Amino acid sequence: MIKANNPKIKSWIDIPADSDFSIQNIPFGIFQYKSQAPRVCTRIGDYIIDVSKVKDLAFFADLDIPKSVFRNPYLNDFMALGKEKTRAVRNRISELFNKRIKKWNSRELFEHYSYKADEVEMLLPVKVGDYTDFYSSIQHATNIGKLFRDPKNALLPNWRHLPVGYHGRSSSIVVSGTPFHRPKGQQMPPNADKPVYGPSKRLDFELEMAFVIGQPSGLGEAISTDKAEDYIFGLTLFNDWSARDIQKWEYVPLGPFLGKNFASHISPWIITMDALEPFRVKGPKQSPKVLPYLQYEGEKNYDVNLEVLIQPEESEATRVSLSNFKFMYWNMCQQLAHHTVNGCNVNVGDMMASGTISGKTKKSYGSMLEISMGGKQSIKMSNGTERKFIEDGDTVILRGWCEKDNIRVGFGEASAKVLPAT
Ligand code: MN
Repeated sequence: MIKANNPKIKSWIDIPADSDFSIQNIPFGIFQYKSQAPRVCTRIGDYIIDVSKVKDLAFFADLDIPKSVFRNPYLNDFMALGKEKTRAVRNRISELFNKRIKKWNSRELFEHYSYKADEVEMLLPVKVGDYTDFYSSIQHATNIGKLFRDPKNALLPNWRHLPVGYHGRSSSIVVSGTPFHRPKGQQMPPNADKPVYGPSKRLDFELEMAFVIGQPSGLGEAISTDKAEDYIFGLTLFNDWSARDIQKWEYVPLGPFLGKNFASHISPWIITMDALEPFRVKGPKQSPKVLPYLQYEGEKNYDVNLEVLIQPEESEATRVSLSNFKFMYWNMCQQLAHHTVNGCNVNVGDMMASGTISGKTKKSYGSMLEISMGGKQSIKMSNGTERKFIEDGDTVILRGWCEKDNIRVGFGEASAKVLPAT
């Protein structure tokens, strides 16, 4: 067992019982305090821990880690140290706050390297290289196939044979809390004979998770499913905002373009694959049997509860979806094996999103397109208004958390407010 995952460890810091940031989590992110340079941090309960200051205090003295990796405005160099090192850092941070290990336990030093979470700004944690979006939830692909094509043949012939994906754009991946303007673009209104240009009328969220590459592969090298986990540093929440009207008109024949690349929000925390280890579960049975390079052994899905809330301006938030990452038909190892099987290389900081994660029932659909049955049915907000898609002033909040044996490992949130089109 990874030492830091021991469910028996208790901390000498007060951690609220419902906190995403238990001592078994120890995620990584980038924070900024006032006008100081951004640095690497972790979070325990309501405290942000400046990992660069922890390093300065020689708590990592025996781990042989260069100081510079914690003084960057991104996690890339830290992730590139490899799992042996990053695991050692996470284990040591766990020891630092472990009630039973007295030698590290110092309130005075704690004052020096910690901040209250509301005193700091959280920044985009990764310098994102290439971004790929998969389409790996069978329920989502089926729902979309039914809405856009033939209800009897909702899944295209390739879907059960390979994890379908497309290359997205990294420049517009931003951190939770970054507001953005409703996108404008070309749309073909129903029954019209020519397109119009204007603000999207069908702005939607997509409930996704994304994994971050921590080790590079070489050009021409295929990563096997059993080696794939060595390349994945961790996971974050991902809202792949989509303008359905722009998407519908532009996507033939090459797929998503401007309907998807105007903004995507991630949570500020990367939860390590190590921290997710206790939450592994079996994936769904794949039928027909997949080609040998996509076959795998063991449990490769993860039990992560996911929810989406819509908060209209100056109102309470309403939950519109409760889904789970374990529903994924194609797992991350298969996605990475498929991505590299042709010799495509990956780099540290590459981000690969799951695709919208929908469950079987309407309450677990991961987009408004599915929840509103293609814009035909409204859902009620707690303030009495109705939604088919996302309105100006709405804040959409994604949350994710794992829970087992009274241990909670959460992802924080990826939230964003939609401003009117410019
Ligand atoms: Mn997507």
